[in-house]
Amino acid sequence: MKGHWINNEWFGADTGQVIEVHNPATEEVLDLVPAGTEADTYRAVEAAKSAFESWRKTAAVERANLLHEASAKIRANWEQLVELLTLEEGKPISENEEEMEWVAGTVDYYAELGRHYRGRVLPSPEPENQLNMVLKEPYGVVGCISPWNYPLLLLSWKIAPALAAGNSVVIKPSEMTPLSTLLLVEKCFDHLPPGVVNVVTGYGLPVGEALVKHPHVPVIAFTGSLQTGQRISQQAAPLIKHLHLELGGKDAFVVGPDIDIEKSARALAYSALINCGQVCTSTERVYVAENLISEFTEALVAEVNKLRLGPGIEPTTDIGPMIGDKYRVKFESHIQDAQSRGAKLLTGGRRPPQFDRGFYYEPTVLTSVDHNMLIMSEETFGPAIPLMTYKTFTEAIQLVNDSKYGLGAVLRSNDARLIKTFFEEVRAGTIWINDPLTDNYAGPFGGMKMSGNARELGAEGLDSFLETKHVHWDFSQDTKDWWYPY
Ligand code: NAD
Repeated sequence: MKGHWINNEWFGADTGQVIEVHNPATEEVLDLVPAGTEADTYRAVEAAKSAFESWRKTAAVERANLLHEASAKIRANWEQLVELLTLEEGKPISENEEEMEWVAGTVDYYAELGRHYRGRVLPSPEPENQLNMVLKEPYGVVGCISPWNYPLLLLSWKIAPALAAGNSVVIKPSEMTPLSTLLLVEKCFDHLPPGVVNVVTGYGLPVGEALVKHPHVPVIAFTGSLQTGQRISQQAAPLIKHLHLELGGKDAFVVGPDIDIEKSARALAYSALINCGQVCTSTERVYVAENLISEFTEALVAEVNKLRLGPGIEPTTDIGPMIGDKYRVKFESHIQDAQSRGAKLLTGGRRPPQFDRGFYYEPTVLTSVDHNMLIMSEETFGPAIPLMTYKTFTEAIQLVNDSKYGLGAVLRSNDARLIKTFFEEVRAGTIWINDPLTDNYAGPFGGMKMSGNARELGAEGLDSFLETKHVHWDFSQDTKDWWYPY
């Protein structure tokens, strides 16, 4: 056990309570981390606050160089990072390689973006004597609270732009996957000035909440569940904090009437089952054109039945375990609720008998579902594919929009009219036509409705960590007609 990472040093390894971090494939303990306290969090905030004063004045090009160095170190420590991510999170190693590629790429992207953006100059009311500027300035200490499903990717979407913008950060990783975050900061961010990057491990309460309530943490960048996001909103409201909330989803996948059945079945299996269905943008409900349902269902079940379950560390594994038993039990309650209300199971629907350890669940396809079932209304976050049919495309759009969430949505079609209707009418932050769950560094990612209020990636992802100041500068010293006396 190493401890919290504060001022580029380990702290608190030998004090107080600890948290066991498990491998979800074997249920074995991988390592221990400290269960941080409010006092640990305050120490990290103090470190970040004093580091901020010089970091914000560091030339942007120098910050960019340091971030590029971090990215180079990520590549140098690649195998160790990928392995640890795989062991603590559970998804297949190829998916973790992809995650690490995203982390390194995001750091490089914001290193560049951060050094060419300081604001803008406005046409002023008196152009002879005045300069009017919009300055973009860092906020100060950013509290970065991350979930377990993409521990480093979602962290990089916060820390890379926050640091490039000149903020310092205190990170609170998920208590289920803190090890890769600790390895990342120790190996790849240790050359930044002490206090610029800090990590406090522990539970949401007290560590996350201490960050949320701390008066010297003006920004909270949070990715996690709707319920935690709501609590954070309540706690932060009296302090008028800037909250970036990336919350849950219930993404829809619409199978258009004109599609290639086999290819679309493969697209859906990937979209619903990557990371064992534990992606905020996992497909969680499917609407199939009525004329295609039997042929499409047959192709989908054949595709799903080919997938190999196993530990993520095995290169042949397609689907790893779920993260923990609590999540598997909640997932099972959605399957049971659906079945008790008349849903039909086409494949899966059980814990695979071949594993006596690990939080596995067979990928599960269901039909005869409706929006009264939990599996079609609440975030399920597991390997389920519930299928409904639609008669008209208007009905499909209504079904897609019939959700409190609005994170992403997928359409498989090549019909330009349907595609245009889909991206104009669907209330979701990302629309994927034919190519589900693909991101772009330059493309802002985030949710509508109760899926959140922020955008990560792209220019928007940097702007989220910059405060806006208008400078009105008159260098003439002239008096104005509208001054006293009237
Ligand atoms: P979670 O809300 O349980 O935890 C997220 C983080 O918040 C953890 O670090 C946790 O310790 C911390 N936390 C818990 N209570 C807190 C509190 N009171 N104050 C401050 N911090 C607190 O979520 P999770 O189970 O780790 O992650 C899964 C959820 O994340 C799903 O709902 C998923 O949809 C969502 N998610 C969203 C996105 C997105 O970009 N919109 C991406 C990935 C995951």
